[in-house]
Amino acid sequence: MKPKYVILTLIFSILLSATVMVLSNNLLAKGVTTDSSAYNLPIVEKVFYLGGEKIRFLIRNPNDQSGVLYFNMHDNENTSVAATDSLLTRANGKFVELKYKGNRRVGGFTMDKKQFLFDPNRIYTDLGIYKTLQMHGTYSVEAKKQVKLFSEFIVDSLLAEAEIIVAVHNNSKGYSIEKYLPDSAFHDSAEKVHYNRNKSPHDFFYVNEPEHFEYFKEMGYNTILQSKNPDDDGSLSVYCANRKIPYINIEALEGHFAQQLDMLMLLQKFLKDRN
Ligand SMILES: [Zn+2]
Repeated sequence: MKPKYVILTLIFSILLSATVMVLSNNLLAKGVTTDSSAYNLPIVEKVFYLGGEKIRFLIRNPNDQSGVLYFNMHDNENTSVAATDSLLTRANGKFVELKYKGNRRVGGFTMDKKQFLFDPNRIYTDLGIYKTLQMHGTYSVEAKKQVKLFSEFIVDSLLAEAEIIVAVHNNSKGYSIEKYLPDSAFHDSAEKVHYNRNKSPHDFFYVNEPEHFEYFKEMGYNTILQSKNPDDDGSLSVYCANRKIPYINIEALEGHFAQQLDMLMLLQKFLKDRN
């Protein structure tokens, strides 16, 4: 290549990378990307093969020793990933993100060619695995066995060292704190509900320890305290209640990047103040 073209190529690639940076920063501001590379966090990938399906786990700060573990298990809930990545530029913690085709549900075929389809937040108890496979019309003994191995991989390998588990989720229309109010669908799952109507009903904390409930309530945030005997739907909150692991779900409307980051920062403040 002639020197003139080398220089032109160089200028072009500098301009291109600058454009990419500006674009990705804009996307991050809107909270719609999962491009954690923009934050330069150390990251490792672990892979689990379920039947023939490749399920990836991207782990930020894999060597973190703080005991605080963030977990995003629904691959279509991207604001929570961007908010958690942003938090980790200024706070400790390990962050595990499940990656599967951008879908909420994981599906495919087990070894014996039987189909499976399930919600990855319904697989942390035996009954939960049974129910979620049944609900998606894919229950078989083999499918249940395979999904159980997958859930054991998550809790024994990825979540094992956590002293506190922080699930990060996003919701859309149809799911909010109002579902936990008296006469609503999930009222029985809640011991206490603090609903601040000045905030979006879609943005709320869901916790299993009274101490956490009182703190977030005191700070004026929407908060739900899980009942002591929650319905066994196989969700991670039920698993944590059974194992006495402190569990906090930080739930926000998809697109509520600033709100979710604010809630993550509040949890940081709580953890700092407590120590
Ligand atoms: Zn979710």
